[in-house]
Amino acid sequence: MNQLIKNNLLGIKELSLQEIDLIFETADYFKDVINRSIKRVPSLRDITIANIFFENSTRTKLSFELAEKRLSADVINFSSSSSSVKKGETLIDTVNNILSMKVDMIVIRHSSPGAPHFLAKHIDSKIVNAGDGTHEHPTQALLDAYSIRERLGYIEGKKVVIIGDILHSRVAISNIFALQKLGAEVMVCGPATLIPKYIRTLGVKVELDIKKALNWCDAANILRIQLERQRMPYFPSLREYTLYYGVNEEIVKELDKEIIILHPGPINRGIEITSRVADADNALILDQVENGVAIRMAVLYLLASK
Ligand code: ASP
Repeated sequence: MNQLIKNNLLGIKELSLQEIDLIFETADYFKDVINRSIKRVPSLRDITIANIFFENSTRTKLSFELAEKRLSADVINFSSSSSSVKKGETLIDTVNNILSMKVDMIVIRHSSPGAPHFLAKHIDSKIVNAGDGTHEHPTQALLDAYSIRERLGYIEGKKVVIIGDILHSRVAISNIFALQKLGAEVMVCGPATLIPKYIRTLGVKVELDIKKALNWCDAANILRIQLERQRMPYFPSLREYTLYYGVNEEIVKELDKEIIILHPGPINRGIEITSRVADADNALILDQVENGVAIRMAVLYLLASK
């Protein structure tokens, strides 16, 4: 396989294992490129990409922008806080106006689950989902899995636990799909109120005891508590969450083996993870950020070359 099947990357659910492998192979090549002294290739010259972000972002937005620039694309950025969305314009009108300026590809982040899928039905452009509400965040899951593969050598048969606010996390859902397609065993761990009831139907294990979960896994992906999405209290206090589900150096030291630690960011130091754990050698957090650029270059390149 040397091409993606669809014109869009809306979610991991729609990707085949072969397509994920193709993205990883292409990212291997781009990772070499971004580590050279001349980091730019002409692959997307004359392609214009609009990054339209209706929700806050640091890493994802910068990472897409840098990936586009490293591929020599022309880039325009739009953020809803400073746009006519505030004046009542619809999503489709906003995007159609952007496309009239001869834009070839849209990278969209939106707080509504399904927004990129809705756009894909109504507009004629290549679309990459940069996170849609609590639904999917495909490039995050690809870079997480890629970082595990890079550190552990392969993913098939590895055990990965995702810890924290599974209920509100698009990173959790996309990671589950990606890791399972790549042959990993997946567990989720967190307070029962933050674990959706349907999760077992996806074929993942559920563990409420963090020590058992960490002892089971080869890799732990630790999530932020998504307070901005919580409309009611799911646990008594952040202090209590940290007491029961925060990953600290004592718990990690007591494990029988060394595990690797991932976090999609932004980190809340001292809440879901302590600084000692986040900054240790077995934490891949900054590798994830580096790999994010290579993964996004691969996705954009493969979509543009269709
Ligand atoms: N950066 C990730 C996301 O956009 C994780 C997070 O915000 O906690 O979903």
